[in-house]
Amino acid sequence: MAEQVSLFNTLTRRVEPLTPLAPPRVTLYTCGPTVWNYAHIGNFRTFLFEDLLRRWLEYAGYQVFQIMNLTDVDDRTIKAARTAGKQLAVHTAPFTQAFFEDRDYLRIKPAHVYPRATEYMPAMIALVARLLERGVAYKGEDGSVYFAIAKFPTYGRLSRLDRREIKVGARVASDEYAKDDPSDFALWKKADAEDEAVGAAWDAPFGRGRPGWHLECSAMALAEIGKRFAVQTLDIHGGGVDLIFPHHENEIAQSEGATGQVFARHWLHGEFLNVRGSKMSKRHGNFLTARDLREQGVDAAAVRLLFFQTHYRQPVDFTDEALEAAKEGVRRLGEFHQRLQGAGSRERGAELDKLAERLEADVATALNDDLNAPRAVAALFDFVRAVNRELDKPVAPAGTARALAAFVRVTDVLDVLPTARSADPALARWVEERIVARAQARKSKDFKVADVIRAELLAKGVEIEDTPQGTKWRLR
Ligand code: AMP
Ligand code: ZN
Repeated sequence: MAEQVSLFNTLTRRVEPLTPLAPPRVTLYTCGPTVWNYAHIGNFRTFLFEDLLRRWLEYAGYQVFQIMNLTDVDDRTIKAARTAGKQLAVHTAPFTQAFFEDRDYLRIKPAHVYPRATEYMPAMIALVARLLERGVAYKGEDGSVYFAIAKFPTYGRLSRLDRREIKVGARVASDEYAKDDPSDFALWKKADAEDEAVGAAWDAPFGRGRPGWHLECSAMALAEIGKRFAVQTLDIHGGGVDLIFPHHENEIAQSEGATGQVFARHWLHGEFLNVRGSKMSKRHGNFLTARDLREQGVDAAAVRLLFFQTHYRQPVDFTDEALEAAKEGVRRLGEFHQRLQGAGSRERGAELDKLAERLEADVATALNDDLNAPRAVAALFDFVRAVNRELDKPVAPAGTARALAAFVRVTDVLDVLPTARSADPALARWVEERIVARAQARKSKDFKVADVIRAELLAKGVEIEDTPQGTKWRLR
């Protein structure tokens, strides 16, 4: 293993070395979107920090197996389906599809599996049955099944809430008197008329009903790692900070209450994306979706760079100015990339090689240290400045291959180059060759030929600009 990755663990409140159960494998479960509506970019801030985590672990030599669930049955999806006058599955299908499109737009690496809650009913029912069997769950007077937190002594360990705070946090519901303790939470909710109307009710030995949201994640996570790796412990479990309590606290109680084994070794939580200081959310009405940005023609690279400029455990305020600055940063990276490609020569250059090594070392140090993306981004821009200085020298540096390789390795992890970088190397070589031919034509005052070459380039989507430093090109 080349890299020692350390990450802040919410469970211990410390940055700790990642120690997977069976390296190089890392099992990663990330709570996915609730597909009642379009995900907003606050949700995607969390998914993007998880994307960076995944990419960095892979860079570090781990084989990551990522599971991201889709919450396609819960209070919100049922209510939204009811309002739309549709069956649950009909209502959620287009939002699931939209989520995948937005994920691709934002260049988020697909998880290995996307379990949908509605497709895991047997696993969920089996988990409830097991908790009943073990005496940590009970059927309430209202016909729902509850988890008895009094039977799980370590309840509250993740969120570090004491009993009093847990009580305050517990939702005051009309079914309160059906529970032994107001803080007990529902594992299985007895089906009501609304659930039946939208097709959100399933038969179970303990009564017809539907799973609670917390139960879904436990059941899907355990089912997936159990079937694939014959384990009941995740290496990493992630989500946004709002999930620490009660969602993740409850996931731990349900999973460990059933298996008697540690549910997740490392808990990671990303901070919020805010708008003028308050959390971006549908409820506050201050949200922007990924499709809004795409429609505005915003390059996903700018969104990624904007988010990665702040550490995942710090809140980010989303502003137009910050987005503009990120767009400018992406443009500079794209220009630099082309310049470096264009300046290619086969010999090696000691100065550039040194800068390349420093870039890789600085980025590794930064990301190994609790995924410090802002420091990695700063190292990248330091590199751009330093290499540009070398390239500006009247005597061009000897070789750029090593520098280019380092730049590509690092930008592959962050994935922050402009979309047009899909210019493949063969095209880039051809462009360079045409630019040289055009310069020769101009030198011999053969302007007709020069214009023909410019048109040829344009036909392939390549724009050129003559500057005092030479001819620059970019893809339209
Ligand atoms: P949901 O679709 O509501 O189940 O949430 C999906 C993910 O987005 C969860 O990990 C939440 O913690 C996260 N999340 C929700 N709102 C925000 C926000 N404003 N900033 C960052 N993450 C968020
Ligand atoms: Zn979850």
